[in-house]
Amino acid sequence: MTEISKLGEFGLIHRLTDNIKIKNESTIKGVGDDCAVLHYPDSEVLVTTDMLMEGVHFDLTYIDLQHLGYKSAMVNISDIFAMNGTPRQLTVSIALSKRFKVEDMDDFYSGLKLACDKWGVDIVGGDTTSSYTGLAISITCIGEARKDDIVYRSGAKDTDLICVSGDLGAAYMGLQLLEREKSVYYQQVDEARKKNDKRALEELRNFQPDFAGKEYLLQRQLQTEARGDIIAQFRELGIRPTAMMDISDGLSSELMHICKESGCGCRIYEKNIPIDYQTAVMAEEMNMNVTTCALNGGEDYELLFTVPIGDNEKIQQMDNVKLIGHITRPELGQMLVTRDNQEFELKAQGWNPLSKEE
Ligand SMILES: [Mg+2]
Repeated sequence: MTEISKLGEFGLIHRLTDNIKIKNESTIKGVGDDCAVLHYPDSEVLVTTDMLMEGVHFDLTYIDLQHLGYKSAMVNISDIFAMNGTPRQLTVSIALSKRFKVEDMDDFYSGLKLACDKWGVDIVGGDTTSSYTGLAISITCIGEARKDDIVYRSGAKDTDLICVSGDLGAAYMGLQLLEREKSVYYQQVDEARKKNDKRALEELRNFQPDFAGKEYLLQRQLQTEARGDIIAQFRELGIRPTAMMDISDGLSSELMHICKESGCGCRIYEKNIPIDYQTAVMAEEMNMNVTTCALNGGEDYELLFTVPIGDNEKIQQMDNVKLIGHITRPELGQMLVTRDNQEFELKAQGWNPLSKEE
């Protein structure tokens, strides 16, 4: 492992960015001057930024730096897709403490580059600095869209269909799984320490967490994917959503944003919410209501969007998209219809199936 001080800031930047090849016409100048230079003669420019703090947004006992790099880029790219745009450039700023070495940054950048290559995004700049407390990452993604193609949160109208891509709750269940295995590990370490059992402690170095049959949950938590494939399908099928968001904080909360911004209500059906089998199994093991997990679990980065009812046939042709409900007049509220036909008001923080009885 190489100390970062050995390369110095410029040496490190050179090592991390030297092999970057520019892919987009709109990138006039990438890394290597005081500013990047971008050129968008005919489009609107979309800008999004996200900050990730160690201990708050990620835990390096669960996620390695390559996956973290990949995820940090993907969550920003996802926001550009959520506006129906095309991501083009990305800047990355990192603050790191002494425990991180040059090779750690190589890993982080390799994940970052994988994500950027996947969606044709150029890394055009950034900053590296030191921190006392750990790792902090700030990423800005720039994209473009034609003015008429941009989809805001505010465009949903009464009778529009509500759709969601992929499945929900799996990333949250993946986090629960990682936390469970981490606490199993520390429990065993604690016990061995109490008994002063040196052999047990030695064996715990090779502790293998039990992830069998739950690989999908881990993948959803650790290998975030932005749904650019859904945006591509919109273009092929001639669909322009009326409102759209990516699901970073949970379906309930995002749906409430759309309703608020659009001045409407909604009705979604529990039986239509897409949930993977592994998510359901894990929820059962954790004694959690799987619908609650799908509604409030974060980090799925699926797309939530509304389309006019006339687009129903086109939606049926889409892969990986499910119709979960429809938009209503605002006075009808934001409702979830359960499998047994009861109605509950959606809440941003957890949906309590018992609330009617209280
Ligand atoms: Mg978003």
